[in-house]
Order: sequence, then structure tokens, then C-alpha cells
Amino acid sequence: MASAAGEQVRRYPRRRALRTRAVVAKRRAQIAFLILLVLLAALLAVGGYASHELYHSAEDRYIGVVLPLRTTIRDLQLDVVEEETGMRGYMITSNRDSLDPYFTGRKAAAADLARMTRLTANHPELAARLEVLQNQVHGLRGFYDQLITFVADGKIGRQRAGRELLSSQGLFSQFVTTAGQMETDIQRLVDSTRADQRKTYNRAFGTLVIAGLLALAIAGYLLVKVPEQLRLLYAAEEEARLDAEQDANSARALAHVSDAVLLIDDGRRVRSWNEAAENLLGVDQSAAIGRMAQEVVPEYATIVEGGRRGDAFVPIRIAGDERWVAPALSTFEGGSVLTIRDMTERYLLERARADFVTTASHELRTPLTAIYGGVRTLLGHPDKLPDDQRLRLLRMIEQESAHLAQIVDQLLITAQLDRGALRQAEAPCDVRSLCESVLEAAEARNHAPATLVLTAPDDLEPLLCDQNLLRQVVVNLVENALKYSPNGGRIELAITDDGDDVRIRVSDEGLGIPLAEQEQIFEKFYRLDAEMTRGVGGSGLGLYISREIVSQMGGSLTVRSEPGAGSAFTLALPRRTA
Ligand code: ADP
Repeated sequence: MASAAGEQVRRYPRRRALRTRAVVAKRRAQIAFLILLVLLAALLAVGGYASHELYHSAEDRYIGVVLPLRTTIRDLQLDVVEEETGMRGYMITSNRDSLDPYFTGRKAAAADLARMTRLTANHPELAARLEVLQNQVHGLRGFYDQLITFVADGKIGRQRAGRELLSSQGLFSQFVTTAGQMETDIQRLVDSTRADQRKTYNRAFGTLVIAGLLALAIAGYLLVKVPEQLRLLYAAEEEARLDAEQDANSARALAHVSDAVLLIDDGRRVRSWNEAAENLLGVDQSAAIGRMAQEVVPEYATIVEGGRRGDAFVPIRIAGDERWVAPALSTFEGGSVLTIRDMTERYLLERARADFVTTASHELRTPLTAIYGGVRTLLGHPDKLPDDQRLRLLRMIEQESAHLAQIVDQLLITAQLDRGALRQAEAPCDVRSLCESVLEAAEARNHAPATLVLTAPDDLEPLLCDQNLLRQVVVNLVENALKYSPNGGRIELAITDDGDDVRIRVSDEGLGIPLAEQEQIFEKFYRLDAEMTRGVGGSGLGLYISREIVSQMGGSLTVRSEPGAGSAFTLALPRRTA
């Protein structure tokens, strides 16, 4: 039991360790899952941001700026060429209708410039070049206007315009150069946009790769670790379940042990407390578990000391009552098991037995001494003794021998009762004459001035029973009535018969019996005056034997008594047909 109990005590720290392990495993898995979630969110965010950026730079710069700007520059160049063509036509024809392309081109160029201004609003690197281009277009326009004025002035003007036109070639080629530079600027914008896009792409790709690899690593870790952690958790759970089952089994087994069994850990705290401990020590399991042993076990130090020494009887007080216990202590690594067996009954029986040996020796010695004295007198004076004295001595020897025989009979019957070997020889019995003969024999020993009376119906039918055993009972009751009536008084033996039961009531006016002891007097070896302070001897077996015999006959033996006023013992026997 000690090793099982040791296991149980050792299980407490182990269970704590299992719980901690389970908590750590759970935390680790949670943290890993959390990081995985964060990484996935980061992947999503980076992916989303990168695609958004790439989409917008394409949308804003290529579609929103570069493409329309390129088209517009080409349009502008065509419009300026158209302007010049119109103006040249006019110079040749001097017809104002020839100026139509000029005006159309001029209007379109103005619209192109306005559009280009809008398109380059967010791109200062292009706006500066546009300003130059705008000035050049305006310069050309002013120049053309001037030529048109010359042409309109007549022939001289036309000739002058023809000369001036040559110098306009410089202005036009400047405009074409600037337009070309602007196209280069636009190409630069395209290049820088592509560089930006590549950078965004690289950054996003890098981030995605790193985060993806991390996520993969964590997912791999979880894949390897989580099943292992789950297995550990399951194993811990299984172990805890088996432990609990084992505890429950131990508790179930302990509940059926008749000894109080206490499991005490190293810190002297109670870890287990069975039902027998509750009954013996009067403390509930729920109130005892977890408390210090010395707080819940009465006289704990005495019990432990007795357990160490292996004492068979240790006296302790539980709630004011004296109890005798046999403690046993087994210590092991982690705690100890204290077993306490209630030995009170055994102790009292042992004490009664010891008392009995004293009493029985005394009881046997008294008649033996008397017989021995009487025989020696008779042998010492064979002829000198007067006849009446010799007769008295012989009667005394006869009585004391009968007394001796009675004590020995009592011992024999007790032994038979203990073995369950008491046999009954039933036969029709005349209860009245049985009682008369008992009273007669009692009268012979009636040294006290007691009056022995028998009342019985005249027509008493014979009762089927073992006559010798019934005699034994009636003799006991009458002997007791005489013994415990030191001042004599009336001793009545009353027989009644109601058809079902025959009752024999033996009443006296003697010492009486206190109420508290009226049941105990039927116990083996129990005597009210065990120390014989009153000088009245006895084995303490008479009433025990009487009640056992009567109950085996199917009847009952009860007492009513009042201390100082006397006692009445009633023996009821059922009538049975032969
Ligand atoms: P014992 O041999 O001591 O008489 P018993 O078993 O016959 O043993 O009686 C047990 C005890 O009961 C006695 O010791 C006595 O104290 C008490 N007792 C029995 N009969 C009577 C009685 N008639 N009056 C008073 N006490 C009695």
C-alpha cells in the first residue's frame, strides 16, 4: 500500500508538470499560428500595394500623360506646319481664302498647347520645356501674322514677306528641335517610370519571397510540431485520466477498508482520507484534505509515535471519548501512510478477559479453599467430630463443589457458544417443577435473609425445550438475585403462560442496575463491580450465557431495574408443539 500511496503523492507534482507542459505546448502553437497569420496578412498587403502601385504608374504616366502628350506634340508640329502652309499659300495667291489652313492650324495649335499644359501640370520636368515650346509657337505665330500683314499691303509687302520668310526657317527649326527635346523628356519620363516600376516590383517581389518563405517555414514548423505537441497533450491527458482512474480505484478500495487510512505528504498535509477515517476521527473528508495533519487528527503526535514504535494499543481522546487505537506508519519518498485501527472493543475485551482471570481465580479459589479446609478437618479428626458438625462440613463440601461445577459449566458453555457448538436436546419440560427445584437449591445457599417465593399457574402445560439449558438460565437469574440482594428482601419467581409464550420473571429488591448499564450487563465478562468492592464475586458470564441460550431457544431475556430498589429479569420462551 505504501508504494501505491507513494505513487499517489508523487503524482501531485507530476500532474503540475504535465499541466505546465500542456500550457507551454498550447502557447507555442498559438504564437506560431499568430506569426503565420501576420505574415499572410503582410503578404496580402504587400501584394495588394505592389499591384496597386504598378497599375497606377501605368495608368497615370503611360495612359494619362505619356501617350496623349506624344500624340499632342505630333499634332502640334502638324498644326504649326499647317499654319505655315496656309501662310505660304496666301503669300502666293494673295487670296484670303488661302489663309483657311493657317487659321485652322493656329486654332488647333492653341488647343494642343492648352492640352499639353494640362497634361504636364504634375510634371515640372516637362512643364519648363513646354513653356519654351509655347514661346516658340507664339513667336512663330507673331512672325506669320506680320508676314500676312505685309502680303496684305500689296506687291512691295509681298516681296518683303518673301524675304522675311527665309528668316522664319530658323524659328521653325528651333520649334522642331524643342519639340524633339520634349519628346526626349517624355522618353526620360517613361524610363524613370519604368525604373520606378521595376523598383516597386523588385521590392514587392523581395518582400513577398521573404514573407512567403517565412510563412512556409512556420507552416512547416507547425506541420512538424503541432502533431507532436498534440501527441504530447494527448499523452498527458491520457496519463492524467489513468492517474485519475487509479486514484478513483484507490479511493474506492480505501472506502471499503475498515481501518482509517491517511495519506500525508512531505509537508504534513493530508492528501487522502477514507470513510473509516471520517467515522473514527469524526472529521469529513472534504474538511480534512489539504489541511495539516496535526490540525485534523486528534493527538497526532501520540499516534505517530505509537505507530513508529508499533504499539498495539494507544489511548487517545476523540471528542472527549477514550479510544484505543493501533497505529501503523509507513514512510516513503514523498510522504507517509498512517493507518489507524480502532482497537477499543478489542482492548475492552482484553481488559475484561484479564479481569476475568483475576475474578475466575478468585471465584475458583474460594470454593476450593472451603472444600480443602472441610476435607482436611474431616481427615484430621476422623472420629472426634460430632455427627452434626461432620454433616455440616459434608453439606458445605457438596455446595461448594456444585458452585465449582457451575463456574466450570459456565466456562464450557461460553466456549461452546463462541464456537457456535451449543446443542439443544428438546423435550417436554415441566417448567414449574424445574423452577421449584432451582428455588430449593437456592434456599440451601440463602445465607442472606431473603424470602424466596414461587408463583405459577396450577395447570401449566409442559413446554418443549432443552431442560438443562433452561435450568442453567433460571439458576443464573436466581443466583444473581440472591448475590445482589445483600440485605435479603423478597425474591420472586413468577411463571405466566399466555398460550404463545411462557414467561419466567425473577425479581428482587436488591442493589438494582443503573439504566446506562442495563444492556451492557449482557455482554461477555461485563460486571458492574469488576473490582469486587462489594465482595461479591462472579465471572461476568452468567447473563451473557443466559441471553445467548434464550435467543437460541427463540425467546428473549430482558431486564427492568432501578438502582437501590431491585431488578426484574423476564425470560420469555415461545411455545412450540412437539
Ligand atoms: P456475574 O458472574 O458477575 O454475576 P453476570 O453475567 O451474571 O455475571 O452478571 C453481570 C453483572 O450484572 C453482575 O456483575 C452484576 O453487576 C449485574 N447483575 C446481574 N444480576 C443482577 C441483579 N439481580 N441485581 C443487580 N445486579 C445484577
